[in-house]
Amino acid sequence: MTIKGGYCQKILEMDLSKNNKHVINVSDNFAVKYVGGRGWGARIIWENLEHIKDPLSPSNIVVIAPGPLSGLYLPASGKTSFSSISPATGLYADSNMGGMFAVEIKQAGYDAIIIRGRAEKLSYLFIDDDCVEVRNAKKYKGLGCVETERQLKEDLGDETLRIATIGPAGENLVKFSCINSEWSRNAGRTGMGAIFGSKNLKAIVIRGTKDLPVFDLTRLVKLGEHAYKTLKSHRLFEFWQRQGLMTVVDYANAAGIMPTHNFKDTCFDDADKINGEVMETFYKIGDTACYACPMACGNVNLVKEGKYAGTVTEGPEYETACMFGSNVGINDFAAILKANYLCDEYGVDTISTGNLIAAVIEAYEKGIITLDELDGMALHWGDSDSIMELIRKIGEREGIGNVIAEGSYGLIKKWPAMKQLISQVKGLEQSSYDVRSAITMALAYGTSDIGGHHARAWTIAKELEVGADWTLDEKAAIVIYQQTVRPLFDMLGVCRLPWVELGFNESAYAEFYSAATGIETSLEELLKRSEAVYNITRAINIKLGATIEDDFPSWRCFNEPIKTGPLVGKKLDREEYTKILKLYYNKRGWDENGVPMLKTLDRLELTDIKI
Ligand code: SF4
Repeated sequence: MTIKGGYCQKILEMDLSKNNKHVINVSDNFAVKYVGGRGWGARIIWENLEHIKDPLSPSNIVVIAPGPLSGLYLPASGKTSFSSISPATGLYADSNMGGMFAVEIKQAGYDAIIIRGRAEKLSYLFIDDDCVEVRNAKKYKGLGCVETERQLKEDLGDETLRIATIGPAGENLVKFSCINSEWSRNAGRTGMGAIFGSKNLKAIVIRGTKDLPVFDLTRLVKLGEHAYKTLKSHRLFEFWQRQGLMTVVDYANAAGIMPTHNFKDTCFDDADKINGEVMETFYKIGDTACYACPMACGNVNLVKEGKYAGTVTEGPEYETACMFGSNVGINDFAAILKANYLCDEYGVDTISTGNLIAAVIEAYEKGIITLDELDGMALHWGDSDSIMELIRKIGEREGIGNVIAEGSYGLIKKWPAMKQLISQVKGLEQSSYDVRSAITMALAYGTSDIGGHHARAWTIAKELEVGADWTLDEKAAIVIYQQTVRPLFDMLGVCRLPWVELGFNESAYAEFYSAATGIETSLEELLKRSEAVYNITRAINIKLGATIEDDFPSWRCFNEPIKTGPLVGKKLDREEYTKILKLYYNKRGWDENGVPMLKTLDRLELTDIKI
C-alpha cells in the first residue's frame, strides 16, 4: 500500500511555549488507517492524552486537519476538523469548519497542524508555505472575529489570505467560544475558541501556493463532473440554494420537534415569522459557499429598517434561527440576525449561547435566579434587547455573563436546580431538536462522543416518518450506522450536506478517495475506519472519566411530557432508554458500561489502545 496522492504526508507541529516549529513526516500506514480530519485528530489526541492536564492549560493540544479530499475538484470539499479536549465537557472534542481554510492548509503543504503550549503574549501564527512565524497580535486584542480578519488582511496587504480567528469570547476563555473564518464559518462547538485563547493564539493566517497531489486526475475530474451534475439536477437543488438549512424551520415546527421556550414546548406560534420564506422575501441579499460547493447554503442577509437596521450577516441557518428564535421566544427575524452577528463578532457558538440564555430566562421565571443576580435585567421571553445585552456580557465575561460563560456545568454548579432546565449531554448544550418523541435521536445525542450535538447522527425525521414499527434493535443499529457514516465526511475533509440534503450517494466517496490517493478502497472499508475512530474517541472519554450516566439525555426528556402540538404527551421512558443504550453498547462491541471490549479493538486493528 503506497500513497500516490491526496495526502501531503506532512504535519506542521507548532509549540507556542518554545516558539518551535517541527514538521512531522506521516507514514502511509498512519495516513490511510485514520484517513484524515477528525480521524487523525482523535488518534493524535489519544497519543498525547496522558500529558494533557487541563483543557485550558498549555498541555492541551489542538489538531487542525482537513482531509485527503479537501481542496480537490469535488463538491463541498473544503472542511477542516479542529480536535482537542473540550473546556466545556472535559472530554474529547471536535468541531468542523467550512470555507477556504482547509484548502489553504493543504496548499501550504500540510495535512494537519498541531498547536501545543502557550505563547508568552497574544500572538498570531503566520504560515506562508514553508515559512512559519509567531507574530505579535497585541494590535488585535479585543477585536471581533470579522474585524480581526479584515484588519489582518489589510495590514498584511493580501486579501487572499485565509484566516481562522477568535473574538473577545475566545480571549476571555468563554467555554463555548468558537473559531471563526470568513465572516460566518465557525468551528462552533465544544469551546475551541477558548482553547486558542488559553494558548494566547488570536489567529492563524495562511497562504499556500502549492499544487495538491492527485493520483489519477482524469478519473477524479470525471467523477467530480458527474457529482456536480447529479447535485445540480436534484429537484430540491434550487430551493436548497435559496434557503439552505433555513428550510428546516417549517419542517421542524410542523413536525413538533422545534425547541421553544427553553425546550419546554416543541412548536412556536410565530414560526412563520422566522422561517426561510421570511428570510428570502425581506432580508436575503446574496449567497455564499464553501470551497467548490455548488449548494452555496450560506445566506447573506441585511436588515433594512428598524432598530437593527444596517446589520449584515451571513446566516442564520436553522440551528441559530431556532436557538435565537423560538427557544428564547423571539419572533422578529431582524433580531435573530442581530444575535447571529453578535455571536460571530464575539466568537461564541450560537447553539450553546441561545440554549443557555433560554435556560437562564426560565430559571429567572421560576425564581431560581434573582433579579440581582441578573444584574437587574428582568428577563422575559422574546426580550431581544436583554438577549443582545446578555450576548455582550457573555463575550466580555461581565456580571451574569461571567457565570453563563462557564457553560452548562458552570450554571448547574452555581444553581443546582438548573440541572432540570438545561438541555445538555456531557456538558455540551443540545442542538435544536426535541427528542421526547424520538428515542433514536435521544440515543444519538446521548452517545455522541462530543456531547449534545446532531453532527454524529440525525435520525429524528426518519423515525417520525417510518419508525413506528422499528424494534429497539433496529433503532440502535440506525444510530450506529449514522454515527459511522456522518463522521466519515469529517475524516475525508468534505461536507456531509450533499449526502444529507440531496441524497448524494455515499459510495461515491470511496471512488473519490481511490482516484485521489491511488489506494483502491470501498465504502465498507472507509466505514470500518470511521468505526475505529469512534472507538478511539470513546476510549479517550472513558480515560477522562466518562461513565454510562454521560450517555443519557437531559432531565426534561424523561420527566416532562410535550404539552402541545402533534406529539403532545410524548416523553422518554428511562427504562426503555436504558434498554436501547445497552443494546447499542452490545452492537458496538462495548461492555455493559460502554467500554470497548478487547475483541472489538482487535477487529478494528486498535490493539495498542489500552483502556
Ligand atoms: S453545503 Fe453549505 S456548509 Fe456544506 S460545503 Fe456547501 S456551502 Fe459549505
